[in-house]
Amino acid sequence: MTSLDMYKRPLRVERVALDVAKNAGVELFMARADEIHPLASGNKFYKLKPHFDYARKNGIEQLLSFGGAFSNHIHALALMANEYDFQSMGIIRGEAEYAKNPTLTAARNAGMTLEFVTRKNYKLRDDENYLTALGKRFPQALIIPEGGSSPLAVAGCTELSKDINAQHKSDILTIASGTGASFAGLVCGLEETQQAIGYAVLKDQSLEERIASFIAAENAEATHFNRYSIVQADYGGYAKFDDTHLVFILDWLEQTGILLDPIYTSKMCRRLVEQIVACEFARGTSITMVHSGGLQGWFGMQDNVMKLAGESSWHRIQSYLQDK
Ligand SMILES: *Cc1c(COP(=O)(O)O)cnc(C)c1O
Repeated sequence: MTSLDMYKRPLRVERVALDVAKNAGVELFMARADEIHPLASGNKFYKLKPHFDYARKNGIEQLLSFGGAFSNHIHALALMANEYDFQSMGIIRGEAEYAKNPTLTAARNAGMTLEFVTRKNYKLRDDENYLTALGKRFPQALIIPEGGSSPLAVAGCTELSKDINAQHKSDILTIASGTGASFAGLVCGLEETQQAIGYAVLKDQSLEERIASFIAAENAEATHFNRYSIVQADYGGYAKFDDTHLVFILDWLEQTGILLDPIYTSKMCRRLVEQIVACEFARGTSITMVHSGGLQGWFGMQDNVMKLAGESSWHRIQSYLQDK
């Protein structure tokens, strides 16, 4: 059996040279969790690893989870399951037609079985009765919530803070937040003097409460609740991707040499730049942003990028991805 740590690379924290930050006296770093594992990118490695450990310990050979048609989580689950000798199954929101997209093609090639459900049925993914019925259909499977966001994932992401701090200790750690499980883990792994900012990429009223309950479930000390804030960074919605956003990503690539993902990390960085420009951070503050991965999402965006910014922009993105 392949050890789960076998492919994990040391987490690299690199300085990000951005003119606006330099002018504001803010020191910026990026934790390259996108490079942490060749198969499971970014926070998804930290979130999934404890599920694989749990499954191994309990003799479970089948892993089942939920996701959208371009889900980074489904992609990571399929590829890791394949590498570490588990069967995997994905319950996917939307039409079977999506099976042909790059994300789900990669998942199928890694041996994942897909089942497509309507948007209405997909909403049942956390419903107790639905999960009981699913458990009866797949009695051998470990059922993992959407995004991998269980208490195990929160515990896994405390390691993310520790890995970052082992390389470089900033005043503030930041990460993009969908379900909030990664951010909660990051907060629980902070040292006493550190703060964290979570950037919400969804318009989701329940995020704040969910993060608080993830943190509480991780047996955090009371002081952890005073060490974080949540900043809205949805830019019109989760899947919204326009000209302005693409220009930001291409400009960031030009200035820093780092490609951000289209949905999560890029929104965090864009909002953070706005905060720096608005002098929301004191001079001398050092900030480490987590690059939470998700670069596989670009493969489904070729047409979109070409339409918005032309072929040469797509080639810049593509050549970055090929060099990885
Ligand atoms: C899933 C994902 C996130 C969000 O993680 P949560 O734990 O759901 O908040 C952030 N960035 C990337 C690239 C992701 O794939």
